[in-house]
Amino acid sequence: MLSIRKRIVIWYTVWMVAIVSLILAALSSGSGMLVERRTKALLTEKVHGRAEEIEVSQGRISIGEDISFFEDGVYMAVYSSSGNLIAGRIPHGVPLGDYPENQVLAVPGDDDSSWYVYWIQLSFADDSSARIIGAIRVQDMSIFFSAFAGVSFWLIVVIAALSSIGGYIIVRRSFRPAERVIATAGEIAGGSDLSKRIGLDEGSGEIHQMAAAFDKMLSRLEEAFERERQFTDDASHELRTPISVILAECGYARGHIDEKEKAVEAIDAIEAQAGRMSRLVSALLSIARSDKGTLVPVRTDVDLSELGEIVLDTMEDDARAKGISLYGDIEPSVHLSCDHDMLMAIMVNLLSNAIGYGREGGMARLAIKDMGTEVLISVSDDGIGIGAKDLPRIWDRFYQADPSRRGGGAGLGLSIVRILAESHGGSVAVESVLGEGSAFAVHIPRSSSSTK
Ligand code: ADP
Repeated sequence: MLSIRKRIVIWYTVWMVAIVSLILAALSSGSGMLVERRTKALLTEKVHGRAEEIEVSQGRISIGEDISFFEDGVYMAVYSSSGNLIAGRIPHGVPLGDYPENQVLAVPGDDDSSWYVYWIQLSFADDSSARIIGAIRVQDMSIFFSAFAGVSFWLIVVIAALSSIGGYIIVRRSFRPAERVIATAGEIAGGSDLSKRIGLDEGSGEIHQMAAAFDKMLSRLEEAFERERQFTDDASHELRTPISVILAECGYARGHIDEKEKAVEAIDAIEAQAGRMSRLVSALLSIARSDKGTLVPVRTDVDLSELGEIVLDTMEDDARAKGISLYGDIEPSVHLSCDHDMLMAIMVNLLSNAIGYGREGGMARLAIKDMGTEVLISVSDDGIGIGAKDLPRIWDRFYQADPSRRGGGAGLGLSIVRILAESHGGSVAVESVLGEGSAFAVHIPRSSSSTK
């Protein structure tokens, strides 16, 4: 299979040669016809011109002394009605048959020549008549044609050469960016470096547009791969800590198998770490399902007010332990068709953050409001707050504004809240001032088919 470049050059050259040949052919046949028409016109013009100069005076045809009967290759002769030559001459060998009057005819001469002949009748006032005949040798065009063909041949050769060389240069130049696209794509396919870009300068051509689209696609791919890699890194990192603790505690328990208190202490630690791992693994599972689009809420009619009270009850101990007062601002009997466990996870995650990032002696509030077309779940606190720089990123997976602020979390709580809200077609929002507190809002629409 020929390359596109070669095909373009070949087509281009073939077209150029075809067009030039057509023009040459048209020129040569056109010039043949033109010469023929001109020759005939010259013949008739001369014959008529002479005819006007012939008069009859006193019964005799008079022709001026200075009248020439050979002009511009046209031979002319005047014959009387009885066929006698009066003036002029027609070259020997031109047959003078009985041709029709007023008509240019081509007749062969007795050598190889060929002639146009033409005659007209002259009628005079005294009823006498004469005829004037003209003859002109037909131009031998074959010499012209063979010369023209020779020139044409070389012209076509030169044009074919010039157009193929010129075409090749133009095509090569215009395809240079495409070569870069191919080379970069090849380098990326052959290795694993997604940071490579074709990086063509600004241009409006199709190949520039293609390269720009390719670069944009690479950037998105790179981002996606980077996110994926970061996610795996973070997930392994988060899992490694509880696993190391569990292994260490197992060793400790084995060493103190006879000391019941120490063994129980170790088992408690193991249980706590296993619990952390379990929460982490279910969070990862939810994220994976959400990415795959298979996280579908199992909707039932849930009394959110009741669920809110239960969550507040379960968090009470944690809040007290931190010296935080827990409030509920819950409208009675707010019902919603939703996934019970997911809504519970939303409230638990938000409240546990409000407590975890709360201040000693501070407060945390869970509010549930029926807004008609949607239900609003909000959790506010007067805790440490979130800085403006961190605020846009707190929903990212594994993002922790300051991991040293509170141990235990993996930075997945808020991502899960968002994923669960979105699986119900809902949305999340946050307002926070560093050092003053935060307010999280989750909007869950009433009539929504679940979206991703
Ligand atoms: P984590 O496991 O770190 O709590 P989250 O996804 O729940 O992860 O939260 C992400 C980050 O957002 C936290 O590390 C924390 O810095 C910040 N954050 C979340 N909730 C609050 C809050 N109520 N007050 C202050 N900071 C918060």
